[in-house]
Amino acid sequence: MTDKQFKIFLDFDGTITKNDVGEEIFRKFVDDKIVSKIVDDLLADRISSRECWESLCGSALIKDKNEFDDFILSQQIEPTLHSFVGYCEANKFQLFVLSDGFDYYINKILKRENLHYLKVFSNKLILTDEGKMIPSFPFYNADCRSAANCKRNHIIENSGEDDYTVFIGDGNSDNDAIQYVDFIFAKDDLLKFCEMQRITYFSFKNFDDVILRMNELSSKKRLKKRHQAELKRREAFKIE
Ligand SMILES: [Mg+2]
Repeated sequence: MTDKQFKIFLDFDGTITKNDVGEEIFRKFVDDKIVSKIVDDLLADRISSRECWESLCGSALIKDKNEFDDFILSQQIEPTLHSFVGYCEANKFQLFVLSDGFDYYINKILKRENLHYLKVFSNKLILTDEGKMIPSFPFYNADCRSAANCKRNHIIENSGEDDYTVFIGDGNSDNDAIQYVDFIFAKDDLLKFCEMQRITYFSFKNFDDVILRMNELSSKKRLKKRHQAELKRREAFKIE
């Protein structure tokens, strides 16, 4: 065990799960042309993440709730997640799931994996008896365009001066959050973003890669925090 305190912030869609479950749901239950148009608008930054979710939910009508739930439960997780959760527990690293997706499917998938006890911050979704999707965004912050659940605020609120912060993610909804952490594990679109913005990151394929790197970081005599992240955090505190 290490004497260093790491706080781990973990994305859900495409990081804990193999696919982006939120996107898969809409691609299955909403007309593909409508979904592509809305997602294109998001990627071109014509709409925010929140506007994207509102449009997608507004376009959906779920006729068969069982089919909907079965589809959610057909989604696979990254198999190395379990050993990673065990690793964090053994080392007393607190783990937080920060998702710009919805509690409705996150809870079902984590429950299936016996990981329902993990601390999750996400958007919320209610499915009405008529099959309408009603989203809500309890952690919305207009400053965070890339995610309707402002991941940055959870990082700042759940870590202190003595903590080394770690973010593990794959996508655009993490773009804002990673700027506030000391160590970034990135793949796919998030990796491209880090490259473009010249942000230091570790690439990873699965959680075994993360464990190996975390062991290296933990065993360093003197581990430095990321200066850019410290500046960003200070700036955020001034604004709040
Ligand atoms: Mg993701």
